[in-house]
Amino acid sequence: MSLNIEEELNYIEKVKKINQGKNLKYLILTMGCQLNENDSEKISGMIENMGYTKTEDIEESDLVVFNTCCVRENAEDRLFGKLGEVKRIKEKRGTIIAIGGCMMQEKHIVEKMKQSYPFFDIIFGTHTLHKFPKDLYTKIFENKRIEDILDIDGEIIEGLPITRNDNIKASVTIMNGCNNFCTYCIVPYVRGRERSRNPEDILNEVRDLAKQGYKEITLLGQNVNSYLRSGNVDFDSNVKSFADLLREVNKIDGIERIRFISPHPKDFTDDVIEAIRDCDKVCKIIHLPLQSGSSQVLKAMNRKYTKEQYLNLVEKMKKMIPDIVFSTDIIVGFPGETQENFEDTLDVVRKVHFEQVYMFIYSRRVGTPGDRMENQIPEKVKHTRFDELKELVEGQISENNQKYVGTIQKVLVEGVSKTNSELLTGRTDSNKVVNFYGSEELIGNVVEIKIISEHMWYLKGEINRR
Ligand code: SF4
Repeated sequence: MSLNIEEELNYIEKVKKINQGKNLKYLILTMGCQLNENDSEKISGMIENMGYTKTEDIEESDLVVFNTCCVRENAEDRLFGKLGEVKRIKEKRGTIIAIGGCMMQEKHIVEKMKQSYPFFDIIFGTHTLHKFPKDLYTKIFENKRIEDILDIDGEIIEGLPITRNDNIKASVTIMNGCNNFCTYCIVPYVRGRERSRNPEDILNEVRDLAKQGYKEITLLGQNVNSYLRSGNVDFDSNVKSFADLLREVNKIDGIERIRFISPHPKDFTDDVIEAIRDCDKVCKIIHLPLQSGSSQVLKAMNRKYTKEQYLNLVEKMKKMIPDIVFSTDIIVGFPGETQENFEDTLDVVRKVHFEQVYMFIYSRRVGTPGDRMENQIPEKVKHTRFDELKELVEGQISENNQKYVGTIQKVLVEGVSKTNSELLTGRTDSNKVVNFYGSEELIGNVVEIKIISEHMWYLKGEINRR
């Protein structure tokens, strides 16, 4: 255990003592990706160990933490909108307001916070998350406002307490940061360069999760298939690559499914494809971010692959793993995108036939090369293209869904449906939501379900009794 962590654990104890018997509540608001969700689980773990219990009601919160994202513009609007509401609650009950995450690594946002929202108590960045107990202690004990942001890459910190949001599926971060500098993306500026976790720490975390009864693991990183390829990777472990890691996680008893996000197409090496093929627990749906189907736009995005290389990779994977399917991310309206370039994107979508497409309208991020490009696309054009892409994607999803009807799918049962308490809900290996009637005892098990009908965003099934 590093000295840093011992210091933080001491601060956790100190705050816990101060809070004893006060019945304090906290609320955490998470924006953005699964990495942020996983960071929030770590923040929650620290906070709960300091004597707070979770609430969903902002009105009764003694501590409100915003874990922010800066990938899309609307996240800023959401944060600033919500801050107004929290100010009122702070005035009423002295609520402590802490704001952390990617957005706090952006200097112009921090300046705006100080000028327009000066009532915050703590701001912390992506590299100082583990110091939250010390920051909170200083706020409570010395009653001063804390700004704890580091511009240099933080260390990987092991051993923080964690409170997970789910008891069947868990995310495990395998690396932080990104070296790729795609020209639309702010992540490398706010999360720093790639730092891989020690494989043995990852494997121990997964073993521990398996012991607790978790069934599905998602390995997380901005660019998972460059795991152990850059930065300090001198670890005492037989695991030397992402492919090795997949094979080792696959051996852990109790874990039934392994997913990972996100790989970069340029780094998708054959050893990883072979590991996906050979490991029975690795789901045969691969999230392969396309971003654009036009080689010209991909070059402007600094993605380092062409349309042809992307399609060749998909073909190679389909040959090596016949039942493999894909999901993807696509950005519409990147600067300079012509109608012809956009048609290339539609062409790739038609050819690959993705199971799921996460579609985004390009949004300018201050500090990225994309924001400085002069050939920005008018909003109206972006929206027209987005609608066209959406129509194509929804048509394909509907076609895909029809192929499931009549098949038997292995479904990991996640719980009772949120919209109908009589139904259970779970997911197929290919990540399709399946709803069916069944006993709650099935939650956490993989069950064979016969698909009887399809709907746009879910399938309906019945237990296969054979
Ligand atoms: S690979 Fe590109 S899109 Fe992904 S985090 Fe890195 S810079 Fe951003």
